[in-house]
Amino acid sequence: MNRRILLLGGVTEALAIARQLGPEHVYSLAGIGRVPHDLTCQVRVGGYGGAEGLASYLREAGITLLIDATHPYAAQISRNAAAAAQAAGIPCWALRRPAWRAQPGDDWREVKDWAGLIEALRPFRRPLFTLGREPLQHLDDIPPDQFWTLRALEACVGNDRCEVIGARGPFQLEGERALFARRDIDVLVSKNSGSVATEPKLEVARELGVPVLILKRPALPGVDREYASLDALTAALDGFGD
Ligand code: NAP
Repeated sequence: MNRRILLLGGVTEALAIARQLGPEHVYSLAGIGRVPHDLTCQVRVGGYGGAEGLASYLREAGITLLIDATHPYAAQISRNAAAAAQAAGIPCWALRRPAWRAQPGDDWREVKDWAGLIEALRPFRRPLFTLGREPLQHLDDIPPDQFWTLRALEACVGNDRCEVIGARGPFQLEGERALFARRDIDVLVSKNSGSVATEPKLEVARELGVPVLILKRPALPGVDREYASLDALTAALDGFGD
């Protein structure tokens, strides 16, 4: 049986894998980011309707290998992927980036959810949020003594106590230093994505002695094989027979 891969994308490395796939394979995107139009493989945009919908797709499309290369905080699709592959009787591989680890000089404080984050933010005045769009839902709840800076993929309207910056990584050290200085940042709020593209902000926080509130990583399901890097996954794919 010829192999046919369904690659669930969501991180930069996924696009790099997609670029190596031939026309029989499918690159799957949720549809909230940019959709590339220069790939040899097929591109599918949008959800499947949960694990059952995904399992049906796997069977109907004759997929022989499912690769989960979604973001470490996209736990729902990862759970769906593991369950659907099992239901369809095919292997599921996952690209699982190792988490960043605190280094000497870091003051990292893990929070488990939004409520925990708001509590941990109380002593601070000028947080820099770098965890996506969720803070946008809370702009009307900003405590009177706080001024927020929110960086997300797309710029959008903030309010008089929140500046929203639209920017996509990779970010450089100099630019991050300038942002911390311009906005007088006294605490950084981040997921632990483990991405080198967004790591410089952690270095600047370390240099300045600025604490970092880290949203805890969600638990992810077990899969048949886990790879910690793009290179490791690519090497395994090269050896994965037709
Ligand atoms: P999520 O909660 O785990 O997934 C929500 C739903 O989106 C899934 O149940 C699925 O819909 C659909 N979906 C997610 N990834 C998909 C893919 N690659 N192909 C087709 N459908 C997909 O995910 P999320 O946190 O909302 O993130 C959405 C997407 O953005 C993910 O692909 C993720 O990798 C990427 N992303 C997330 C973050 C983050 O911080 N969460 C950061 C960067 C990129 P159905 O149930 O209908 O199939």
